Amino acid sequence: MKKQIAILGSTGSIGTQALQVIEEHPDLYEAYVLTANNRVELLIEQARKFQPEAVVIANEKKYNQLKDALTNLPIKVYAGSKALCEVVTDQQVDMVLTAMVGYAGLQPTIAAIKAHKPIALANKETLVVAGELINELARVNRTPILPVDSEHSAVFQCLAGEGDNSIEKVILTASGGPFRTFTREQLAHVTKEQALKHPNWSMGAKITIDSASMMNKGFEVMEAKWLFGVKPEQIEVVVHPQSIIHSMVQFTDGAIKAQLGMPDMRLPIQYAFSYPERKQASFPRIDWRQCHELTFEQPDVERFRNLALAYEALHRGGNMPCIVNAANEVAVDAFLHDRIGFLAMSEVIGQAMAHMPYIAKPSYEDYVQTDAETRRLTSELIASHSF
Ligand code: NDP
Ligand code: MG
Repeated sequence: MKKQIAILGSTGSIGTQALQVIEEHPDLYEAYVLTANNRVELLIEQARKFQPEAVVIANEKKYNQLKDALTNLPIKVYAGSKALCEVVTDQQVDMVLTAMVGYAGLQPTIAAIKAHKPIALANKETLVVAGELINELARVNRTPILPVDSEHSAVFQCLAGEGDNSIEKVILTASGGPFRTFTREQLAHVTKEQALKHPNWSMGAKITIDSASMMNKGFEVMEAKWLFGVKPEQIEVVVHPQSIIHSMVQFTDGAIKAQLGMPDMRLPIQYAFSYPERKQASFPRIDWRQCHELTFEQPDVERFRNLALAYEALHRGGNMPCIVNAANEVAVDAFLHDRIGFLAMSEVIGQAMAHMPYIAKPSYEDYVQTDAETRRLTSELIASHSF
């Protein structure tokens, strides 16, 4: 029996790499659902090649183009964000890969968990925004959540075979991004073109900016808390510019296990698909003749304020991480459209954290409202330059 996989966000960086994994193992995996937001041409191309049961285009304006292009094929065609929540519940779906970007991934992930579909989770914003709620839903519905983010996949791989052995510390590695050695004065003037050039990974625009600003690592700290049940003070971030060690776990006796490999997302994607087994893969291997040193540095939260803001949000809990996520999505979009500078992103997020009402025990509706209100506030702050 082939595993039927629904890929939410099949046209993105993670989505296209997931399709490469499926293509490499036609005997094991099949793309059952493919979805996109705007890139309808690529979605059409993927649908013709992988012949899924259904496709969804979130942007309803693109529905006719998609429908017309696939008219002679036995593929169901849907549009809109509600359809994303419906397709994942199809009885035939064995696993849902959440590879959409941002807050938009939350609702379909909840729908998939409620339908008892194992989740291969790339969309870290889901856990950042509503980690507690997602964990509770996963527990009640007995739905496994398998990490795809390379750091969390590394931790997950280090934990294999450890049973109840207790974790002293999770050590998340960070490449440091393209501005690792920049001063604050230099950071004030960096362009989006510079920020979009990540030294080790090729990813979607939003996460690439998050990596340059270290917000990505802040989000990953939150993600680690919810995935592995560790306290914030048990999660350490270490800058490791080579991106060869993908993360580590320090156990109660002080022993540290690490997972190493070339920076290639296809490995963690495939591991989430094949877990608990490992399958053959053709991805590049480490060549120890080329890899001469593995170095480590402390992260600098003065230059990269986002990391400090993320830790603060994690400590305060409640709807604070949701506020940080929404403000960050608006700030990153403004930076990508040349409306604010690189350092202003942290200023805007800090302002949103200071001004949004705090809710200690948010319900799902509170998250929805917090997200919408934070976006409105942040957009106003940016428009009026009051940060
Ligand atoms: P991309 O921007 O490359 O792709 C995002 C995908 O989501 C695209 O298919 C896009 O469609 C779709 N999408 C965007 N907005 C919406 C929406 N509102 N409704 C429905 N679909 C939408 O992102 P990445 O692949 O880089 O990242 C995806 C997720 O995985 C993010 O949460 C990221 O943090 C996480 N991640 C990514 C890694 C990477 O290496 N790229 C590593 C670890 C985690 P369209 O193409 O039509 O715009
Ligand atoms: Mg990562």
